[in-house]
This record gives sequence, C-alpha cells and structure tokens, in this order.
Amino acid sequence: MSSDIGLIGLGTMGSALALNIAEKGFGIAVYNRTAEVTRDFHSEAGELASRVTPTETLEDFVAALAKPRAIILMVPAGEIVDAQIAALRPLLGPDDLIIDAGNANFHDTNRRMREATGPFLGIGVSGGEEGARHGPSIMGGGDRAHWDRVAHILEAISAKYEGTPCATWMGEEGAGHFVKAVHNGIEYADMQMIAEVYGVLRDGMGYDAPAVGTVFDRWNDGALKSYLIEISGMVAGTTDPATGGPLLDVIVDAAGQKGTGRWTVIEAQHLAAPVPAIEAAVVARNLSSRRETRAQGEAVFGAAPTPMPPGTLDEDTLEQALICGKILCYAQGFTMIAAASEAFGWALPLPEIARVWREGCIIRSEMLNDMADALTDDPARNLMFAPYFADHLKAGHTALRQVVAQAALHGIAAPALASGLAYFDAMRTARGTANMIQGQRDYFGLHGFARLDDDSTDQHGPWAD
Ligand code: NDP
Repeated sequence: MSSDIGLIGLGTMGSALALNIAEKGFGIAVYNRTAEVTRDFHSEAGELASRVTPTETLEDFVAALAKPRAIILMVPAGEIVDAQIAALRPLLGPDDLIIDAGNANFHDTNRRMREATGPFLGIGVSGGEEGARHGPSIMGGGDRAHWDRVAHILEAISAKYEGTPCATWMGEEGAGHFVKAVHNGIEYADMQMIAEVYGVLRDGMGYDAPAVGTVFDRWNDGALKSYLIEISGMVAGTTDPATGGPLLDVIVDAAGQKGTGRWTVIEAQHLAAPVPAIEAAVVARNLSSRRETRAQGEAVFGAAPTPMPPGTLDEDTLEQALICGKILCYAQGFTMIAAASEAFGWALPLPEIARVWREGCIIRSEMLNDMADALTDDPARNLMFAPYFADHLKAGHTALRQVVAQAALHGIAAPALASGLAYFDAMRTARGTANMIQGQRDYFGLHGFARLDDDSTDQHGPWAD
C-alpha cells in the first residue's frame, strides 16, 4: 500500500518526526543518503515499523508514495536543500509537494518558492528532538492550498495546548521560516537573560549551582513558568558523574549557535525593527566564544565580578527583573514580526503565533498564553502596553533597574537585561534626545529637521547660511 507521506533525512530531527508521523497512524516512506541509517531506523522502529516503508533509492522512495505526493525534507539548511530538491523534482509529478522542514533562511525559502516547478512549502519546526518525536510547534509558509493538503498530518503530529494543535499556516512565501527565525531570536534572548540572572546569583550573591537550581525550580511555579526555566533548574541541579560536583561548574562557558539568532538580528536591522535584547543575546554568544581574549582581559584588568554585600539584591527582586526582561524581549520580537508582516505583505497572524508557541517549542511558557490574549485584543499594540503586561512592568521595572545597576556596579555583564531596560526607558520617554542628532546631522550635512512648532522636515539651523 502507498504511503501517505515521505521523509528524506533520518538524522536527529527527521527520524523523530518520522516516528511521530507513524505513531499518529500515517504510512510513511523514508529515504536517507546513507542507506545503512535507513535500515537501522526501520529495524529499530519497533511496533511502528509496519507503517514505515524504508527505501534505498530516490526512485523507490517516490514510487512508494500515494499521489499527489507530499515529501518532507529534514536535511541541513542551505545548498543541501537545493541539491535535494534538484535530485527529487525530475522524479515527481506536477502536483507533488516538497516541504522543507529544516531551519532554512526565509530568503532561501522565498527564492525556492519562486524557482519551484511544483508545489513547495517551507515549515519551521521547533522543539528539538523531543518535540519532533512527541509534538513540535509547527510554523508553515507558502501557498495556503498546499498547506491545507498536509495540515491534517502536521496538526496530528504537533504539540497540543489544551487540545488545540500548535501548527499553523503563517502566510505566503517564507513566512513560516521567518516566524521560526524570530522564535529562535527570542529563544536566544530568553536564554541569555536566564544566564545573566544565574551570573548575578553565582558571582554577586555567592549561590552554588544546586542553590541556583532551587531558585529556578521555585520560579517555575510562578509567572516565569516555562520550559527554559524548568530545564535551567534541572541543569543547575545536576551532579557531574565524573567529579561528583555540579555539572554546570565543568561546562565550558562558550555558547554555540547555528545562525538563526543572527539572521533575526540582521533582518531586524533591514526592517528597522528594534530588537535590542535579541541583539545583545547574539553578541553575548559571540563574545562567549572568545575565551582566550576574555582570559587575557582578566589578566590585564583583574577579574570583574565582585561579591555584592549581603542584602544588596534578593531572589524576589531578581524574579521581578527577569519577568520584566522577558516581557520586553517578547514585545520586541512580536513588534519585529508585525514590521515584517507589513513590509512583506504577509498579514502574519500575531495572536496565532503566540498560540503555536504555547506548547512544543523551546520558548513555550505560561506567559505566551497571556500574550496570545493580549494580541487577540489588539494585534497592532506593542505587548508592553497591553494592560496585563503594563501592570507587570509598572510593578517590576524598579527591580529590573536595581538588578541592572547592581550588576554593573559589581562588574557582572548583563547585556540583555540592560538593553531590555534601555528599551523600556526609551519607549516611555515622550521627549527623547534625537533632537541633538538631528541638529548634528543638519550641521554637518544640511539634512534638515522638523521643529516642535513646525513639522515640515526641511528646516535648518543658522549654520546653513
Ligand atoms: P542531523 O545532522 O542530525 O541530520 C542530517 C540529515 O541530513 C541526515 O539524515 C543526513 O544523512 C542528511 N544529510 C546530510 N548531508 C546531506 C547531503 N549532502 N545530502 C543528503 N542528505 C544529507 O541534522 P538535524 O536532524 O539536527 O537537522 C535537520 C534540519 O532540522 C536542519 O535544518 C536543522 O537546522 C533543523 N532543526 C534542527 C533542530 C535540532 O534540535 N536538531 C531543531 C529544529 C530544526 P546521512 O545519515 O547520510 O548523514
């Protein structure tokens, strides 16, 4: 019997996704560049093996699929996807659908859609291996009619939030991969802010790793309840089997990255959308990888962090600061999505985006449910102005200010929290300081400015004479 869907690329994500699809009752044909991997996958599929058709040539793979065919690619992003499409397309009929489910740059997805000689979708899949296996969050992009053909499968395998599937069509072209990239940018900032609070607890307040874990575990019962806080608590509380001490203390402090955070920041600059917390998080990862330079800096200037006198900060202040930082980071991410929606003519569904992020993906959290409500009330409003979040910010920005100030006074780098605070202050200052910049620009370049008492933009200072 022909399979309902096909999947190419049985790596970490592809094999988990294929088992998830089979488990939900769909027949799936699989193909992998290295045939041995396909054989191993099938033999280890257990009771799901009967729904899996292993194939060792692309021709056999295509022949195993029900028409019109639908094929998921789960291979590394970039040229490999182009090569895989080029190898596959000549074997397919005009209605056969190729779905790139890897972490493509959305510009590539836009191009592939323009060049495609048959139906093509780009979908972002979040949640890592565990999510792919048991329910990821899925962000689809491309022609709506093509999405509708496979929506029943994608919804069936996706995570569910109180029964609602976390799989949604976001818009035309590379909209799905764009939303996935911003998800990853937000993920970078969320993780960075947690790491900064860990730094304050460790270097400023003298907490050991298990004590940090206990704090995060407690916060996971409150407004910060989220997958990232949960796993941060577990990571901090884990013992290293080799040394018997905290595992966190023996992990090298250089963070890896695959590029999606960087793409978000680059795109934000193109869109002139301010995402300073995400930018700070990407910069922090770049700096973290410069271990030798940082060691040289410590040799020249002495170690920066100095312990805070007892009572300088407490756990509740840190919790409030992190809540505010998180709100500001998501406010920036959603504002960027709104800017892209307008610039690309996509009509991105902001409340839906918050909804599909509530389960399955790495940034899943309780707060995203409140964000979905706030964006449903008014999708065009910056989240920080929605009453629920404005109340949190009113109550907590002093805590954020204290944490950022004390971190600075004690030499603890907290760039994402600090840039979150600067964003908050800029966004609540009706009369800013760009009048000085406009004066400078006019002085050296006669660029012109508007006056408070006359908003035509072609006015100049007396230096123009
Ligand atoms: P893996 O490295 O685990 O697997 C890569 C797969 O692609 C393997 O099946 C491999 O086959 C195949 N492959 C590699 N090179 C080629 C090639 N030149 N031609 C054909 N097939 C090739 O990657 P992941 O599963 O982690 O990632 C797949 C995609 O999913 C990526 O775009 C990634 O960014 C994205 N993603 C990953 C997440 C994660 O947590 N890992 C989360 C969300 C998205 P072979 O066995 O022959 O090497």
